[in-house]
Amino acid sequence: MNLVQLLEDNQRRFGTYESLVYEGRVYTNAELAALSSQLAHHIQALGVRPGDAVMVTMPNRPEVVIAFYAIAKAGAVAVPVMPLLQASEVRYIIQDSNPKLVITCEVLKPKIQQAIQDLSNPPVVRSVDDAGVEGFETVLSHYPAERPNVQVEDHQPAVILYTSGTTGKPKGVILTHHNLCANARAAADLAEQYVLKVEKRVGLGILPLSHAFGFTMMNTALCLGELDVLLPYFDPVLVFQAIERYRVTHFTAVPAMFHALLHHPDADKYDLSSLSVCISGSAPLPELVRKAFEEKFHCLVFQGYGLSEAAPVVTAPRFDKPAKPGSVGLPLPGVEVAVLDDDGNPLPPGEIGELAVRGPNVSPGYHHLPEETEKVFRNGWLFTGDMARLDEEGYVYIVDRKKDVIIRGGFNIYPSDLEELLSQHPAVAEVAVVGAPSERMGEEVVAYVVRKKGADVTEEELIAFCQEHLAKYKTPKVVQFVPYLPKNLIGKVDKKKLREMAKTIQF
Ligand code: ATP
Repeated sequence: MNLVQLLEDNQRRFGTYESLVYEGRVYTNAELAALSSQLAHHIQALGVRPGDAVMVTMPNRPEVVIAFYAIAKAGAVAVPVMPLLQASEVRYIIQDSNPKLVITCEVLKPKIQQAIQDLSNPPVVRSVDDAGVEGFETVLSHYPAERPNVQVEDHQPAVILYTSGTTGKPKGVILTHHNLCANARAAADLAEQYVLKVEKRVGLGILPLSHAFGFTMMNTALCLGELDVLLPYFDPVLVFQAIERYRVTHFTAVPAMFHALLHHPDADKYDLSSLSVCISGSAPLPELVRKAFEEKFHCLVFQGYGLSEAAPVVTAPRFDKPAKPGSVGLPLPGVEVAVLDDDGNPLPPGEIGELAVRGPNVSPGYHHLPEETEKVFRNGWLFTGDMARLDEEGYVYIVDRKKDVIIRGGFNIYPSDLEELLSQHPAVAEVAVVGAPSERMGEEVVAYVVRKKGADVTEEELIAFCQEHLAKYKTPKVVQFVPYLPKNLIGKVDKKKLREMAKTIQF
């Protein structure tokens, strides 16, 4: 299946219905289909041909959705880019993906102009605000509402998604139409098992549409025929207001967002009773936060796991099977996982190794990076770079990123063990643990802690707390208190930055 068929299938199955709300404006699926066809003609008129790359960089707004499907209908390849990236980062992605066109908004246009300065083959740049919001649709109204006559193949690239680069330079992950559709359909099949408190399924789009998780939520919503409320950015009050106003039943978010919603002083002022299911992904969700969120908001919170290279969902909650604390659930139907040792041999349940993934959602590789592709995609498996274990029933437990494992005096220490423990201390709001180079031990353990408001805990107390609950060699050598943790654009702790900070510590 390809994205064009996914849209057609949506209309065939569900007819016309309200499919997207943004700042009070409602779009039906038929309107979105027509607008994306019109934009497909428009971008063709701007010179885009099948196979060309088209960059889309805007905060969440309906034009992003319209642009993604328009690019698919034109047989081109979307390059979604987070709006908060610096001009130099955007320039890197433009040089790597060589887009014919950049679709952006007025506020970001100067940054794009700066990014393409002096490029020998610069892309055309268009802002959807060129003539105001009405203007965008007026421009499109000159084009036919039927999609252009372009042959779209299931296995052709639909997207090049640049990973956020928490572990190095961004890599362009190629995702085909087949990858995206297979992932969205499998996620939708599982979501259909949700038992909701209210009859109508209403999702909330909080994650950036320029990230794999946000992008797939959009496709999944079309497979489910549901209404999605799109937020321009994450803000707890906007989330509460949207849940109350539209009777939102579910959303997917990252752990930092659950944390912020849980501790927001205004949470009790809103009627959030429609909320049934939330899914956390992209980083480990502390068990304490998960439980507290469930209790406070009377909904279920599950963990899922994924990565851009898998389009992105690998595991998700199964509503016909019990959730297990600390687990990210079972593989999506049609997706296989294995835990392998360093030689690529499967390990028995309970043993920790690298998680490998195989299935229709797995990317064919990285754009322009054959060596990197060979390293990560081997014998039909995607090597995720995540350390994990399986239990007897096949539930997956992510232990840590391979690159984050701390080797202290020859012993492996998984920062997530310490993070999970320290997050249970009553004075700790947030914590991240990294390794720092040490002449004597190879690496030492450093914990960065954000204290809860008004809490007064010392480094010695937290070290003693760790010693009490974990093997001594795992104890942090240093605990540093910080006002906040550095996070990347999706809200994931930026461990690269913390490792840089930790390098300056003298042991
Ligand atoms: P880069 O690959 O450049 O470091 P990135 O990690 O932000 O960028 P993504 O594809 O956005 O790239 O993130 C995928 C990673 O997020 C996974 O490999 C895994 O380490 C982590 N992750 C996702 N879900 C979970 C989860 N539920 N628990 C723990 N880690 C998770």
